[in-house]
Amino acid sequence: MKKVTLGKTGLKISKMGLGGIPIQQSDTEKVKILIRAMAEKGINYIDTARGYTVSEAYLGEALEGIRDQFVLATKSMARTKAEMERDIEISLHNLKTDYIDIYQIHNPNMKQLDQVIGTNGALEALQEAKAAGKIGHIGLTAHSLEVFERALDFEWVETLMFPYNIVERQGEELMKRCREKNIGFVCMKPFAGGAIENPVLALRFICSNPDVTVVIPGMHTVKELEQNFRATEEKERLTDEELREMEQIQRELGSNFCRRCNYCAPCTKGISIPNVFLFEGYLKRYHLEGWARERYASLQAKAGACVQCGVCETRCPYHLPIREMMKRCAEEFGE
Ligand code: SF4
Ligand code: SF4
Repeated sequence: MKKVTLGKTGLKISKMGLGGIPIQQSDTEKVKILIRAMAEKGINYIDTARGYTVSEAYLGEALEGIRDQFVLATKSMARTKAEMERDIEISLHNLKTDYIDIYQIHNPNMKQLDQVIGTNGALEALQEAKAAGKIGHIGLTAHSLEVFERALDFEWVETLMFPYNIVERQGEELMKRCREKNIGFVCMKPFAGGAIENPVLALRFICSNPDVTVVIPGMHTVKELEQNFRATEEKERLTDEELREMEQIQRELGSNFCRRCNYCAPCTKGISIPNVFLFEGYLKRYHLEGWARERYASLQAKAGACVQCGVCETRCPYHLPIREMMKRCAEEFGE
């Protein structure tokens, strides 16, 4: 696979990489087979996270002896220096390596970002680890536009990960600025959490945007890898038929799909509305029930706390029936 440069990191990586969430459904033997198939095809970018339970550890096993053929990225929800120091050591141990190419701050909100960059914040630990040669580069992942925009102004940010797909195009303007600033753009959620059922079209659309440096579909089988690999290798422009199909997908999903823009905030009852819908996606489309329920359980206010006031719906630019969706999530999660 042809290599591209990951922004100011200078790293040479494949246009498609591995998103490490679905690895949790697999086992070490299957992950070894997947990683070897990636090596054969020249797909060298791997993204995982401390938060993806066994994902780092399975990858660590699979990478033994061939780690140098890959660019490894992981991330942590740590916000303080001490927590981040601990997480970097755990990641190094799990991944069975003494060096991680990219370590990312995992999805902070604006307040958490203040903590991360403040005194004794997680950034200090990352910068010290970088100086010590334990990590190579520092990145940040975001789901909200305000965090994405703010991150563009930090000199230390070398990669930015944000959702981008046929139905979530709210980041396009910032993606342009990302490229102008030579920050590598890592495209997550290419299939909108499984809502887009034509992966080939989804990837062809993403690869047609020059502002995307690398796309990381979640995969855990060689079959998925081969299909996605072919889709990202195809160079022809999107056909009229594909453009029509995209419009149809936008129409169908557009009426009931949360883009995680957070314009609906603040909820009267303190519910993190986009996170409720994100975890519902993991529950219903990723088939990661245990993990989805665990993450949902960590929310301070659950869907069941919704008092149906409707304030959020007046702010949602996509006119989502949030009250109905909250009822459905409360039933699915049981609280
Ligand atoms: S519910 Fe609407 S406003 Fe809220 S995050 Fe989703 S798309 Fe944005
Ligand atoms: S309708 Fe429910 S989710 Fe929306 S603001 Fe009111 S309490 Fe929050």
